[in-house]
Amino acid sequence: MDLLRSHKKAQKTQKKIPLRVVPISVPTPFYIGPVNVYLIPEDPVTIIDTGPKTKEAIDALRAGLRSAGFLVSDLRRIVLTHAHEDHCGLAKSVRDEAKNAEVYVHNWETGHRHSRLEYEEHRTLLVRAGVPDGEIERMRRLYEHMRKYADSFGDDEYTSLWDDAELEFESGSLRILHTPGHTPGSCSFLREADRTVIAGDCVLKRITPNPVLSPDPINPSRRFPSLAEYLVSLARLRSFSPTLVYGGHGEPIRDYEELFHRYFRAFQDRQAQVIGFVTKNGVTAWDVALKMFPSADDVHRFLSVSEAVAHLDMAHSEGKIGVELNNQTEIYKVF
Ligand SMILES: [Zn+2]
Ligand SMILES: [Zn+2]
Repeated sequence: MDLLRSHKKAQKTQKKIPLRVVPISVPTPFYIGPVNVYLIPEDPVTIIDTGPKTKEAIDALRAGLRSAGFLVSDLRRIVLTHAHEDHCGLAKSVRDEAKNAEVYVHNWETGHRHSRLEYEEHRTLLVRAGVPDGEIERMRRLYEHMRKYADSFGDDEYTSLWDDAELEFESGSLRILHTPGHTPGSCSFLREADRTVIAGDCVLKRITPNPVLSPDPINPSRRFPSLAEYLVSLARLRSFSPTLVYGGHGEPIRDYEELFHRYFRAFQDRQAQVIGFVTKNGVTAWDVALKMFPSADDVHRFLSVSEAVAHLDMAHSEGKIGVELNNQTEIYKVF
């Protein structure tokens, strides 16, 4: 059977069988806590996400597979929702051990796939956000340190996922939905028979995912419009009326509609807060990040800048605030 084919072709053979999903909780050294790996225990045996490259994670993955009756060597497909270390870190070593397995990830996950963060492009985005040099250097060192939690992939070492294609299984298929926002190449997977979705970090039960500051994969000198894309992705998932959503962290979501509205309220509140920090004299995204999260440290500094940029971008595109460039740094002003 084809491992990946177009949705239109697959529709003819869709079977009405619910998807069997075995969640495996894998520890991470990160603040977010354990990550969910999802095993689809049928031919071709597939995992969605892998966990970070640590001994604790591979041990937990092996144990989870074993209790479902599988070994790493049984895996045929390693599918990645996105290329953050906690999700993709073990992909290469698991693939090498499984021998016959193929890795699938959307080709817009470039920055992360080739060892986290294409440095120069990110640097430009951080300068534009008004982040001081010393902070940029601190962020660089921090992400340098993160590299050890994931192996990078060459362009010939994976198959790209594309929107509306299908991953086929014995019991039917999983439709690939490109759901950008958290990262440019984030993907979700839909079983139409029972409207089950595996959504990676696009949908998380207890926290609102961060639209991470990323270069645009089509034109890396520009910024990816993470928040605007993210809101479209959430609405797109909603259009399928999912009954069960498996997120990248935490428990599954049984009431997507409630979560969708909760996220929207949170975005509106944050948007209002961010606009409230913009003055007549002008502020940078960095100024806003410091005001929003004064005690954020380490990786949270970068995430708070991401959040500020995402909301300022959105407010600007909706004509609520103005922006001008001063020495490569964007200054946001109220009219
Ligand atoms: Zn992530
Ligand atoms: Zn994650």
